[in-house]
Amino acid sequence: MPLYKHQPVRIHNSLTGKKDLFEPINDGHVGMYVCGPTVYSNVHLGNCRTFMSFDMIFRYLKHLGYKVRYVRNITDAGHLENDADEGEDKIAKKAKLEQIEPMEVVQRYTVDFHNTIQKLNLLPPSIEPTATGHIIEQIEIIKDILEKGFAYEANGSVYFDVVKFNQDHDYGKLSGRKLEDMITNTRELTAQDEKRNPQDFALWKKAEPQHIMRWPSPWGDGFPGWHLECTAMSTKYLGETFDIHGGGMDLKFPHHECEIAQAEASTGKSPVNYWMHANMLTLNGKKMSKSTDNNIYPSEIFSGNNTILSKPYTPAVVRFFMMQAHYTSILDLSDEALQASEKGYNRLMDALDGIDGLKTGDKSDFDIAAWKQRCYDAMNDDFNTPILIAQLFDAVKHINLIKEDKETISSEDKDELTCTLNAFVYDVLGIENQSITKDDSNTLSGVMELLIDIRNEARAKKDFATSDKIRDQLVELGIQIKDGKDGTTFSVN
Ligand SMILES: [Zn+2]
Repeated sequence: MPLYKHQPVRIHNSLTGKKDLFEPINDGHVGMYVCGPTVYSNVHLGNCRTFMSFDMIFRYLKHLGYKVRYVRNITDAGHLENDADEGEDKIAKKAKLEQIEPMEVVQRYTVDFHNTIQKLNLLPPSIEPTATGHIIEQIEIIKDILEKGFAYEANGSVYFDVVKFNQDHDYGKLSGRKLEDMITNTRELTAQDEKRNPQDFALWKKAEPQHIMRWPSPWGDGFPGWHLECTAMSTKYLGETFDIHGGGMDLKFPHHECEIAQAEASTGKSPVNYWMHANMLTLNGKKMSKSTDNNIYPSEIFSGNNTILSKPYTPAVVRFFMMQAHYTSILDLSDEALQASEKGYNRLMDALDGIDGLKTGDKSDFDIAAWKQRCYDAMNDDFNTPILIAQLFDAVKHINLIKEDKETISSEDKDELTCTLNAFVYDVLGIENQSITKDDSNTLSGVMELLIDIRNEARAKKDFATSDKIRDQLVELGIQIKDGKDGTTFSVN
């Protein structure tokens, strides 16, 4: 019998405001959609935290034996600079600024996104669709919404009629807003506005002649509104109603509210049973922001190339740090917090490395079955990773006592302990064992010294093919060599 039959999961559902028992639509199968990045700049650490939270959820559901179809999109068109359907497309703007093709912007930052999350050990989603690859599907939904009377065309653009929708639906139910309040708090429409109400949002925007990203449609050349792509792609791959929709807290309104409105207007069904929102990451107690320099990129943490932290931290330590907070809590990143996480991470890895060598006895002083269930209880309670990690350290304490001959463990229990720890640390939390033991590090230094010597000899003989080959292949292994005044040094990423 699969594990999920014995391990009921409760999920904090933003739609009900409660922890609801998770019951998928199709027994044993889960459909999960997460709003992916808009690829117009290097991926933010805050976004990494959101995607890591859903990676952990994906991993745990898989661990329980569910077959999960996890869809995480790439926004490569249609995301305007502000939520009022004004300003330029973020990708087109960057393309103009850097004088390159929009698809070059998309390619550059998609590669950066994938490289970064791979370092942080995120599993690839089952499907990673793009907005530009689903223009036809988006046009079909617009036609459908127009036909049902919840949208109108104005001067080559199409807008969703929020007021009309709200007459027999509840616009604002996810974010706890009332349309009447929103109306009183917004500015009046001006004569130039094409919208009937300020709350209406674009399903299709007419492309001005200078706009580089454009597609033909029944309403003329244009591009889809940002909210629409997620409705099109989630419906296409997961069905009109699916299990879990996730994203960052900042997407709850208007993005997710608009997704609900679009789906309900076109299919008449509620699109999602469990809405999940991950909280934000702050830096030294303040909101991260590029304009105030209170900002750090993942690569700057891994390399140590920054003015905020005292030293580099490995991706595994950063991941462990993030897993120490519940995904719905605000998490603050600081040098002290990362140092504490690094200590904890090393302690956990030391215990895991030493578990093989534990002596076994006739009986166990540590109730493994009860401890194991406490680990599941933590995860079943809305994926409570900090409580799970506290349980893992409870096991570490016992491992250390057994090492010191102050406690004993039976051979059966030792196997169970090893198995459970491996499952939770590596499979569920996705923490990699990147600790290099002292022996390994001596060997590595020796091998590197040899390679650097060979490379220097090659360079002296002007054999640049060999010297470049050594450098490039080391880079592929995550080892950088630097030539300085005092000779050649190396660093491991
Ligand atoms: Zn989305």
